[in-house]
Amino acid sequence: MAGILLKNVTKKYGKVPAVDRINLTVRDMEFVVLVGPSGCGKSTTLRMIAGLEQATEGQIYIGDRDVSNVPPKNRDIAMVFQNYALYPHMNVYKNMSFGLRIRKFPKQEIDKRVEEAAKILGIGDLLDRKPKELSGGQRQRVAMGRAIVRQPQAFLFDEPLSNLDAKLRVQMRAELARLHQRLKKTIIYVTHDQVEAMTLATQIVVMNQGQIMQIGAPKDVYKNPGNRFVAGFIGSPAMNFLNARVVERDGGLAVKGEGFELTIPDNLRANYMKAKNQDAVFGIRPEHIFDRKEKQPFQGGEILKVTVDVFEYVGSETILVAKCASDQIIACMNPMTEARPQGEMEWIVDMNRMYLFDRSTGEVF
Ligand code: ADP
Repeated sequence: MAGILLKNVTKKYGKVPAVDRINLTVRDMEFVVLVGPSGCGKSTTLRMIAGLEQATEGQIYIGDRDVSNVPPKNRDIAMVFQNYALYPHMNVYKNMSFGLRIRKFPKQEIDKRVEEAAKILGIGDLLDRKPKELSGGQRQRVAMGRAIVRQPQAFLFDEPLSNLDAKLRVQMRAELARLHQRLKKTIIYVTHDQVEAMTLATQIVVMNQGQIMQIGAPKDVYKNPGNRFVAGFIGSPAMNFLNARVVERDGGLAVKGEGFELTIPDNLRANYMKAKNQDAVFGIRPEHIFDRKEKQPFQGGEILKVTVDVFEYVGSETILVAKCASDQIIACMNPMTEARPQGEMEWIVDMNRMYLFDRSTGEVF
């Protein structure tokens, strides 16, 4: 069993904490992705788990063992880095087997493990090549192979796909998901790319400024963000935010802001009573907005008048950038939505998918 537990872990470089009292439970065989903007403390967290950085405070457990003071080589985990860190003068076989050779594994066992890992990764015919004779994707596979042959309790990945081009990244993403299913081992993976996080993770950990903002299954974090930061970070294009207040209207409630007033569906009214007359931020995702001309009226569909600045046709969808009074608002629509000259448009906002945040704390209402 190789669950990983972080208890009140803090890392300070100087005065400001890079990682600030985080608590995290990673269950055995989970694929956990730490995601957040650059500098939020993801790599530092991973490096502390690996033992490459010492935590300033707190404890780290791997399995049942407190490893806080255990050196990296005795933690029984393997780390794969962004820059592969392959030895340029060694061929693939030697790179993959290096860790086992210095641990004095028998030759037969080494051959067996390298062969197995190479098969899993589809690099069996590259074993004699040097790193410079490999493509980026192949080098990344060798780096993973070197981790796999050690048969560690857990794998740590630090932005392993960020040096690959977009197409290869998508392909390697799928391979990583398959690899996790096949190896049945705990993985902790760091990325700043929220799409990578959403597609790979069984649990996603959203970080900001050294703290954990939310932990949950990808769908759950997308659907029920706990605060404005998570709401804005997960989802692409990002959620729209408009300053607003909740007001009473015709016996019900509405969200009112500059240039718009949208009725809150009856079944959601009870949730938002507490927000009445408070400074709030209304949130709506671009994919929950429709062109009035293309969409039949539906329960909770509210009309929003906007002035469209830009139509971006991207094949599978059209992205519209518009103004609602002085605020920018973005919608993703059916690609059949015809580009019209700049000007007024009526959109339908699906208020069943609305979000509302406290303007001062950013917490969800
Ligand atoms: P991320 O991986 O999310 O981009 P990091 O964990 O690398 O973020 O960094 C978190 C914060 O800690 C950043 O502000 C970074 O500048 C700082 N930091 C990281 N490593 C060091 C170091 N060795 N010395 C001083 N500050 C550091």
